[in-house]
Order: sequence, then C-alpha cells, then structure tokens
Amino acid sequence: MDSSRGARTAVVVGAGVAGLTAATALARAGWQVEIAEVSPVRATSGWGLCLTGPALRALDELGLADACLAEGYGMTGITHVDVRGELAGEVQLPRLIGAGRPGMVGIARPVLHRILHAEAERCGVVVRHGLTVVAVDQGGSTDQDGEPVRVRLSDGTARQVALLVGADGIRSSTRDLLGLTTALDHHDQMVWRAVVPRPPWATGIHHFAGKADTAGLVPISDSQAYVFLTENGVAQSVLPEAELAPRLRQLLEPFPGRVAEIRPLVTGAESVVRRPVRTTLLEGAWNRGNAVVIGDAAHAPAPQMASGAALAIEDGLVLAKELGRHESVGAGLDAFVARRAQRCGTLVETSVTIVGLEREQRHHDAYPLTETCHRLMAEPA
Ligand SMILES: Cc1cc2nc3c(=O)[nH]c(=O)nc-3n(C[C@H](O)[C@H](O)[C@H](O)COP(=O)(O)OP(=O)(O)OC[C@H]3O[C@@H](n4cnc5c(N)ncnc54)[C@H](O)[C@@H]3O)c2cc1C
Repeated sequence: MDSSRGARTAVVVGAGVAGLTAATALARAGWQVEIAEVSPVRATSGWGLCLTGPALRALDELGLADACLAEGYGMTGITHVDVRGELAGEVQLPRLIGAGRPGMVGIARPVLHRILHAEAERCGVVVRHGLTVVAVDQGGSTDQDGEPVRVRLSDGTARQVALLVGADGIRSSTRDLLGLTTALDHHDQMVWRAVVPRPPWATGIHHFAGKADTAGLVPISDSQAYVFLTENGVAQSVLPEAELAPRLRQLLEPFPGRVAEIRPLVTGAESVVRRPVRTTLLEGAWNRGNAVVIGDAAHAPAPQMASGAALAIEDGLVLAKELGRHESVGAGLDAFVARRAQRCGTLVETSVTIVGLEREQRHHDAYPLTETCHRLMAEPA
C-alpha cells in the first residue's frame, strides 16, 4: 500500500497477545495505532504459558524471541508419562527458529506481556487502559483514502479510523458490535495452573496421564515452572480462593511418580488459577467492512494444544502483511481471513478432539494427534 496516501490509522481493541502483536506489526508498517484495553491496569494474572514453535517463529520475526528465551525457559521435548508413572513416549517438536535454538519457550504471562507492551510502545503504539469500544459505525464513506470506521469509546470520545481490529479475547464484544456471531463451546473440563519452583529434572514439558484427570509440568524460567491439571467431567464453577491450592493438591494425589514430588510445591492461592475449557471458531467471515476480529475473538482453541497464543501472534503479523499487500483495507482483510481460516480451524478442531480423547482416557490416541498437529502448525503461517 502506498504510504504517500497519508497516515493509516487503526484502533485495536484489547492489549492481549493478539492486540499487542498486531499493533506492533501495524506500527512497524507505518500505521498510527491506538489500543483500547478494558482493564484499568496493565497487570496480568501470574501463571505461565508455553509458546510453541509457531509462536517463537512469529516472535523471532518481530525480533522478540531472544528476549522471551532470555527471561523464559527454552525447550524442545515433551515427555509423556502413563497412569502408572512410567515413560509412555518422548516427542521432539520442530525447531522453527533454527537447529541450534529451542523449539518452544515456557514463560510467565506477565513477562511476555511486559516484552510485548514495551515493543508496542517503542514502535509508537498508544495503549489506553480502562477503555473499550461501545459503538461502531461503518455506514459512511468506503473510500479507501477516507476514514471509514467510526468508533465510539467508553470515555465518550470518538475516532474515525481506517481500520478497527477486535483483539478482545474469546468473549469479544467487538465481535458482537460487528454482528459476527459464534457459539462458545463448553467441554465439562476445568484447567488448573499453579506456579511452583522448577525441579531440576524439568527441562521440557512433562505430561502425566491420570486415571480421571491429566496433569503436567512446564518450566517457565530457570527457577520456576507451572503445574497444570485438567479436571474432567466438571461443570463450570468458581471456587473460593482459599480452596484453590488445597483442592489442586487433592486432585494431584492419585498421580504416582514425579507428580508426588510436585504436589507439596503447590502452596499459595495467589499462584493458582482455575479456568473453564471453552472454545470458539468463527465460521465464515471474521471481517466486516474495514473491521476484523483476530486471536481468541475469532478462534479460541482448548489449551491442550498450547497454541492459542501462537495463532494470536501469527494473526498480528499476517494481518499487517496482507494489509501491506492490498490496495484497500477491505481487500487486505479478505486476504488475511482467507489465509488464516483453515489453519486456525484445524487447530481449534484438533484441540476439541483431544479434549474428547482426554475425557475418555484415550491418551495413547491423543499423543499422535497432538504431534501431527504440531507438525502441521510448523508449516508457514
Ligand atoms: C488456562 C489456559 C491456559 C492456556 N495456555 C496456553 C499455552 O500454554 N500456550 C498458548 O499458546 N495458549 C494458551 N492458552 C490460550 C491463550 O491464552 C490464548 O489463545 C491467547 O491469550 C489469546 O490471545 P488474545 O490476545 O486473542 O486474547 P486474550 O489473551 O484474552 O486478550 C484479550 C485482551 O482484551 C482485553 N479485553 C477484553 N474485552 C475487552 C473489551 N470489551 N474492550 C477492550 N479490551 C478488552 C482483555 O482484558 C485482554 O487484555 C491458554 C488458555 C487458557 C485459558
């Protein structure tokens, strides 16, 4: 796109992984970008996540992979342990940023957000907190050189911009404002995360099959790791904070072997989170006029594939590239969605299949599916 036509302006809704990455990629391509983030403060909850190969590759393109590797924990392998506590298999994931560099990185969420925020602001993105979009009007000009999206914000101010990006997560209100409808699917699973000291043997992901639930351990720095547990056959509910750590320890009790070593490390409630497994996938268009939704707002997989953030980061990069390749914003958004829909759909659908296999205790069927999906995701975004 010819930048001589004047500044291209965008409002991004949500300063999560997708919003910050998209804003950075757009700003680097010459866009003036403002993010409206509903949370009044910058803090994120303190659990960790695993950034798989595609996430690392996209971060590397943004020049941020080394910062994540320096503060997180680089690794390549997944060790599967069966219900008796015995080795069931080991998988090496593709090293997408070079043979001598790790295949993935475990990282604390606040650290990742700090890195993404700093880069966005370094690129000139303005991040406003305690703000959301309350109305969108695209009824006016569709002239590509004009400012066709009118956005009203919750502080009473308005913007006229060339592009609106909804990166406001699985319960996206931007999606609603654009009239894009999708169902949120619940899977009778709750997932737990707890930050613990990293045991010396935890140099990759460990995945422990249980008789009822599934557990695991992911290093996120030299000194820390997070325990995860997927609780099967439970409806969505909220537990009082004081019950979180004792209940998680109880759920870990039936696991033999190394889990018994990790169990007593789960202590403070402040380091434990419990979330429902929910998924969504927008069928058809993710865009309307000069507005689009990305990240979990368009495609939220179950956490079992540990790749929702990978898709969110890739979305940001691909969005900026496709907008740069097309004359009009609308055509760029059509190309973006066409390029992303199948890949994101495959990941969401595979993650839902794995949820079902886990619920039926068919771990041996889930392992090869997980590996095949990781190899598919190794293809270029
Ligand atoms: C328990 C759990 C564990 C996970 N583990 C992993 C993992 O290990 N690896 C991985 O790749 N993925 C993992 N995921 C998935 C991953 O977290 C998501 O796919 C990813 O965060 C999506 O990024 P996003 O920016 O689209 O959405 P979000 O991260 O949800 O960010 C949305 C942002 O928008 C803001 N917002 C919301 N509503 C509004 C509004 N109306 N106006 C303005 N702002 C708004 C929110 O405050 C937030 O800052 C996990 C998910 C869960 C639930």
